[in-house]
Amino acid sequence: MMDRDAYLQETFHCDDSVLAGILQRMRESDMPPISVLPSLGRLLTLLVKISGAQKVLEIGALGGYSGVCLARGLEKGGTLTSLELNPAFAEFARTSLEQAGFAEQVRYRVGPAASSLASLVREEARFDFFFIDADKPNYANYLDYVLQMALPGALVCADNILLGDRILDSANQDASVVGMRTFVQRLTADPRLESVGLPIGDGFAIARVAR
Ligand code: SAH
Ligand code: MG
Repeated sequence: MMDRDAYLQETFHCDDSVLAGILQRMRESDMPPISVLPSLGRLLTLLVKISGAQKVLEIGALGGYSGVCLARGLEKGGTLTSLELNPAFAEFARTSLEQAGFAEQVRYRVGPAASSLASLVREEARFDFFFIDADKPNYANYLDYVLQMALPGALVCADNILLGDRILDSANQDASVVGMRTFVQRLTADPRLESVGLPIGDGFAIARVAR
């Protein structure tokens, strides 16, 4: 029997040659196989489209898989800003976005996301869509910056909120688990946010900033 993810991915044709090509290049470069699942990639594209977002900020680029999915949701004038710690990954992701036809719409900021976020706040940058998918202990920290730059009605999405179900163990004190708990607490307690957590992939949160 097929598993759920494979069934849904195949039935809804969430994979294609561009995305498969990125994963193939990533395998050849021994990059970690932790891109979003094809179904979640499709959800990212749809969320950007449905929300009409024009300024997207991604935290954690890796090979550019989620970046291509986000960029596919943009209209012509829309832009994707992507933050990545590892210069080699940022370069790899840039190539993925170029090959997918989004060279003009994407810009990378290389370095620790907290520094890039602090710079963006200083520059008074504003975004209407955020995708948080970098180092898990810092999610709550990233949320603080995100809320400073969020336009009214912005969407804030986050991947890996279940951490391979480690989040379910209330005794677990790993930095990632503790950080994710804090992130989820803030996301769900903030009166400006309406949110939901979904079991897709490794757990995915969607929140909307009040208008
Ligand atoms: N969003 C990607 C997967 C990201 S994996 C996709 O689905 O296609 C997490 C990424 O976060 C890795 O590329 C890692 O290098 C990056 N990262 C880890 N710590 C970081 C930090 N402090 N600042 C910015 N990026 C970081
Ligand atoms: Mg992830």
